[in-house]
Amino acid sequence: MQVECPACGHANLFWGKREGDIVIEHFGRRCQGLIEGGSGRQQCDFRFRFKVCGECGAENDIAARRCHGCQMLLVDADDKLKDALKLKDAKVLRVSGMQLEATTNGRGLPRLKVTYHDEDGASLAEWFALETPAQRRAFSAAFLRDHLRAPASGWQPMSPDEVIEEQQRLRAPDFVVGRKVGRHFQIRDKLFDYQGRFRKAAEAS
Ligand SMILES: [Zn+2]
Ligand SMILES: [Zn+2]
Repeated sequence: MQVECPACGHANLFWGKREGDIVIEHFGRRCQGLIEGGSGRQQCDFRFRFKVCGECGAENDIAARRCHGCQMLLVDADDKLKDALKLKDAKVLRVSGMQLEATTNGRGLPRLKVTYHDEDGASLAEWFALETPAQRRAFSAAFLRDHLRAPASGWQPMSPDEVIEEQQRLRAPDFVVGRKVGRHFQIRDKLFDYQGRFRKAAEAS
């Protein structure tokens, strides 16, 4: 299947899934296009899927151990989970389901509510507003970037209902970490593309 790079326009051949004209899902991580640089032809550096280095902000492959920008060791998902499980005020869910709802906040404004739950019935939720262009940009950065099955597809929903109608474009995280703030839990981290020890342990049990 062809997936066009938003940076250089190269038509990448990735495994994926299409519905009509829409690319619903693909598994490409980095653009395969070659572009002319100062030192000859180089691979385009656009990444569809990446993890951001906490030290320098560089985008790294999701499987990278060390940052290509600053050489620091990247925080491992297993370590993140281990640290979270040690905290008394944290809630760690191994996500078995994700539910989307169009709701309203206390002032009657439309909100998208996303609830994650595990097999034991524990849950964590987050809310998003999509009324203004700034709110939609924030939603893209905080939610769509990680949740889209076809990253960088340029989909920009205008309302909670539109997100719900096309939720086949979205994937659920493997783990969600919440921290207690006052009497409520706030989502602090969501882990995707997780293939670590915790999953192996959970599947063996
Ligand atoms: Zn490219
Ligand atoms: Zn770095």
